[in-house]
Amino acid sequence: MGQRTELEEIGEFGLIERLNPKQEIRNNSTIIGIGDDAAALKYNDKIVLVSTDAMVEGVHFDMVYTPLKHLGYKACVVNFSDIYAMNGQPKQITITISSSNRYSVEALEELYAGIHLACEKYNVDIVGGDTTSSVSGLFISITVIGEVEQDKMVGRNGAKVYDLICVSGDLGGAYAGLLVLQREKVTFKANPNFQPDFSTYEYVLERQLKPEAGKKTVEWLRENNILPTSMIDISDGLASEMLHICKSSDVGCELYIEKFPIDYETTRTLEEFKIMADVGALNGGEDYELLFTIDQKDFEKIKENENITVIGHITDKSMGCQLVTPQDTTIELRAQGWNHYRKEEK
Ligand code: ADP
Ligand code: MG
Repeated sequence: MGQRTELEEIGEFGLIERLNPKQEIRNNSTIIGIGDDAAALKYNDKIVLVSTDAMVEGVHFDMVYTPLKHLGYKACVVNFSDIYAMNGQPKQITITISSSNRYSVEALEELYAGIHLACEKYNVDIVGGDTTSSVSGLFISITVIGEVEQDKMVGRNGAKVYDLICVSGDLGGAYAGLLVLQREKVTFKANPNFQPDFSTYEYVLERQLKPEAGKKTVEWLRENNILPTSMIDISDGLASEMLHICKSSDVGCELYIEKFPIDYETTRTLEEFKIMADVGALNGGEDYELLFTIDQKDFEKIKENENITVIGHITDKSMGCQLVTPQDTTIELRAQGWNHYRKEEK
C-alpha cells in the first residue's frame, strides 16, 4: 500500500516545499521564483512582479459577518500588499471567481463594487480573469502584476547583522477585530434578534474587514531615499514573518516586546479575551503592515516617520531569533500564527 501523509503533519509551508522541490530555472527572465512575497521576472530593463492570493468561504471569510463589498476590497488589498512588500507598485490584476447559485447577481456586484473601489484607490487595472460555478460557497483568487526598478527591488533575503528591524502602523488589530466578530456570531446564533453594538470596536473591525496595503510606507521610503535591506508583509503575524526574513537572510534577530506598536483599542479588546496585547501582536495575522530592515545609517530619517517603529535589530545567525522582555530576559521567537493545515506549529 502507498504511504499516506496527512496535510496537518507537514503544514502549509511544508506542503509548498514538498510539491515544489528545488528545480532548475529554465528561463533567464525568472529572477525570483517561489519563496518570496511575489515572483520577480525581468523583461528588458523592467522587473515585473507577480503574486496570487485566494480567499475561500468558510476558511478566509464567514458570510455571516463579512459584507461582500469589504470582501472584494480585502481580496485586492492582500494582493497589492505582496507587491509593496517587494518595494514595487501594483499595476494590473486578474480575478477568478467561483460562485454557487446561493449568490445572486446583485451580491456578486457588491463584491465587485469593493474590487473596483480598491483598484481606484491603488491605481490598478482589472485586465482579465475567469468565472466558474462552484458546488458550495464562494471562492475568489486574484493575481496581481506589479513593477519595480531592478536596483530598487527588496526581497526577504537581504537583512544584515546590525540592521534595524522596523514595522509600519500598528499590530494585532485585525486579530482583535476577528475575535469580536466571532464572539458576536455565537451570540447571534443563540438569539437571532440580538443586535450587536460595535461602536466601541470600530478601529479593530476596520482592521479586520477593510485592511490597507503598504502604499504610503513604500512611497515615503522612496521619497526619503531609504532602501530597506529586506521586507515582507505581515499576513500571518509578526513572529512568523520575522522568522521568514531571518531564514531567507541567514541571520538572527532580537525583537523588543516593549517597542511593539499596538493601538489602545486593540489592547483593550484583546484584554477582554484574556489575551496579552503583545501576544496578539506577535501571532495575530492579517494586519498587512510591512516588516522591513534598514541599515543603521537610515535611523535618523526613519525616526521622523511616526507611522514607522523600530522594534529590534538583526543579529548573527548563531544568536538565534529572540524576544527581549521588558524585564530584559530573552525568549526564543516562535511562529504560532496562521498556517493552513497545521494543527500546532512545531
Ligand atoms: P504570502 O503569505 O506572501 O502570500 P505564501 O506564504 O502564500 O506567501 O507563499 C510562500 C511562497 O510559496 C510564495 O512564493 C508563493 O508564490 C509560493 N507558493 C504558495 N503556494 C504554492 C503552490 N501551490 N505552488 C507553488 N508555489 C506556491
Ligand atoms: Mg507576503
